[in-house]
Amino acid sequence: FAPWTDPDAVPLIRFRNVTKRFGDFTAIDDLTLDIYEREFFALLGPSGCGKTTMMRMLAGFENPTEGRIEIGGQDMANVPPNLRAVNMMFQSYALFPHLSVYDNIAFGLKRSDMPKEQIPDRVNEMLRLTRLERFAKRKPHQISGGQRQRVALARSLAKAPKLLLLDEPLGALDKKLREETQFELMDIQEKTGTTFVIVTHDQEEAMTVASRVAVMDAGVIKQVDTPPAIYETPNSVYVADFIGDVNLIEGTAAKTGEHAYEITYAEGVDPIKVTECEHEIAEGAKVTFAIRPEKIVVTQDPPEDRANAMQGKIIDIGYLGNLSTYHVELPGGQMVKATMTNASRISRRDYTWEDTVWLGFRSSAGVVLSE
Ligand code: ATP
Repeated sequence: FAPWTDPDAVPLIRFRNVTKRFGDFTAIDDLTLDIYEREFFALLGPSGCGKTTMMRMLAGFENPTEGRIEIGGQDMANVPPNLRAVNMMFQSYALFPHLSVYDNIAFGLKRSDMPKEQIPDRVNEMLRLTRLERFAKRKPHQISGGQRQRVALARSLAKAPKLLLLDEPLGALDKKLREETQFELMDIQEKTGTTFVIVTHDQEEAMTVASRVAVMDAGVIKQVDTPPAIYETPNSVYVADFIGDVNLIEGTAAKTGEHAYEITYAEGVDPIKVTECEHEIAEGAKVTFAIRPEKIVVTQDPPEDRANAMQGKIIDIGYLGNLSTYHVELPGGQMVKATMTNASRISRRDYTWEDTVWLGFRSSAGVVLSE
């Protein structure tokens, strides 16, 4: 499933050069984006970057100051919220406290043009989909937070919208329930085939649920891609740093071959060898080499099988049960984090502080970033 790679696929949602200003503050800045049918699309970014504003424009609660938004090929410029095939699920769920679970789900259907006799079937289908059959007669205060979240979802999907907008849908749940519910959300999205656009500031959540993620910063999208592509090949220091844990090493680039560079980061030590670099880097350019901690192995002897080997001193060790993170200081003061699994007691080396160790990684393990 990758409609964005198909040049003939028609996007369900099109943002074209959309700018949104509030007074003289620019919340969204000349943004262009396509989202395809059946996608589970995540808008990810820090507080205030404009995620909710994008959702509100899709739902029709706000209009772009400039540019155009299309849904299903239709310009949304003068289409009010109730005439869009879009529903929005709010973080607060906004359930009616005095209505049963059943009636909460039925509420929107009763006010729609669905024939009355079809409503029970549809509500029961939604109850089944969200595994709430047993709770149909209860009121919202008589069910758990996770169940309330599912009622809100069932109610949002009852009218079979083409597009469901979810603003921090799991924000009210504790970590464990949140993780379980992420998989439920994915399952329900797949079963209904509805396009989901989710707003979250939790990068793990976005990476777990989404087909593609847009990483936002101050009203612009820095990168749109699949979770693995965002993680493995971030296009900027901002994205590399925002998603997951990363080592950022500043240096100067020199070309050594096709797609190959050396990055000098300190005097008197070997430069970092990089291959498989997809973009061209100017000779002598100041760059940042980004490498994930789990791509680096910590060894006592120089690692023969790695193109890169750096010697350093362990400053700190974080033991996380399944993993250990080693903080290693290189000559010149650069700190590097390396994460190793503790898969067995034999594979786990018992290093201690002040130990001198080698850090090894392949020439294709990291990326060179110019911005
Ligand atoms: P959060 O994760 O905190 O919800 P967000 O990424 O959803 O943040 P938005 O709510 O879209 O951010 O807001 C983007 C920016 O636009 C913020 O700086 C906000 O203060 C501003 N903003 C949003 N709505 C208005 C408004 N009605 N009037 C003035 N400024 C606004």
